Amino acid sequence: MEVLFLLWSFVLFSGVTALPVDIDDTDVIIVDAGENSIDGDDFAVDVSSLGPEAFGLPQNESGDTVAEWTESSLMNPEEMGGYAEGDILMPQLGRNGMRETTSRWSNGIIPYVIDTTYTKEQRDNIMRAIADYHRLTCLRFVPHSGQTDYILIKNTNTGCWSSVGRIGGRQEVNLQAPGCVSKKGTILHELLHAIGFLHEQSRPERDDFVTIQYGNIKTGAENNFKKADAKRTYDYGVSYDYNSVMHYSEFAFSKNTQKTIVPKMKDMKLGQREGLSRGDVKKVNNMYSCKKQEPTTGWVGQVWQNFMGSKTRRSVMI
Ligand SMILES: [Zn+2]
Repeated sequence: MEVLFLLWSFVLFSGVTALPVDIDDTDVIIVDAGENSIDGDDFAVDVSSLGPEAFGLPQNESGDTVAEWTESSLMNPEEMGGYAEGDILMPQLGRNGMRETTSRWSNGIIPYVIDTTYTKEQRDNIMRAIADYHRLTCLRFVPHSGQTDYILIKNTNTGCWSSVGRIGGRQEVNLQAPGCVSKKGTILHELLHAIGFLHEQSRPERDDFVTIQYGNIKTGAENNFKKADAKRTYDYGVSYDYNSVMHYSEFAFSKNTQKTIVPKMKDMKLGQREGLSRGDVKKVNNMYSCKKQEPTTGWVGQVWQNFMGSKTRRSVMI
C-alpha cells in the first residue's frame, strides 16, 4: 500500500505521464499465445522521407558532443548528434545507394547482442527498456543465437543513433555511455527507431499541434525539422502524441537556449524520456498486429487504467 501511495504521488505530482519503470514479479503481465499473435510478413517501413543525409557513417564528432550531455542539459542526448534528425543513421546500399523502405521484424522477434563494455547499471537500464517492450507489446527481444537479422547495441564514441526498421543482417544501435544509457527513455527511443518508427514531430500534421521556431534553430540544423510525406506515412491509429518518447524536446537544436518547438496546447510538455506513452504502445502494437490488451491488473494496471486511461487525459495521450 505504501508503494502504491508513493507511486500515485509520483504520477500525480511529477507530471510524467509515461508508464513507471520498475515492477515487481507479481505485477508482470503474463502473455499467452492468443495475445502474442503477430502476423509474420515483412511489411515495409517507408524511410524515403529521411532523405540522403540519413545515409552515412558514424562520426566521433557526434560522440564528443554527446559526451558533454548531462541530466541537466536542456535537450535530450539523441538530439545532439550530427545525424539525420540528430540520431538517425542508415547504412548505404553499396555505392551511394539509398533505401526507400526497410522492414518490420518478422513475428516481432528482435535478436540482440549488447556490448560488454557497459557497466552493470547501464546494462540494467537497457534491460529495463527491453522489459517494458515485453510487458506492453508483443515484441520479443531475444539473445542472438545465430539469426541472420539482429541488432548490436554498441557503446562507441559516436553518440546515440539507430537506423529505422529492420535493415537485414547485423544492424547497429549505438548507445554511447553514459549519455545515451542514463535515461531509460533514450534507450526506448533508439529501439523504437530500430523497431520501425520515426520522430513524432516529423509527422505530416505536426504544424497543427506545434509551432517550429525557426529563428532559434542552429544554422544548418533546419533540416532536422522536416515533415514526412502524408501519402507515405501511416499513423497506426494514433493521433499526434505530445507525450511520445519519440517527440523532440522543446529545445532540440536550439542555438540560443530559446525553444525551437512550442506546443499549441497550453501547458503541454514535450520530449519526455521516462517511458513509452500510451500512444507509443498502441502504435507498436498496431504496426505489429498485436492484440495484447492494456494492463489492467497489478499496480501497473491501476495506473494505466485510472490515470493514463482517464477521460480528461485521453484526448492528449492517444
Ligand atoms: Zn530519434
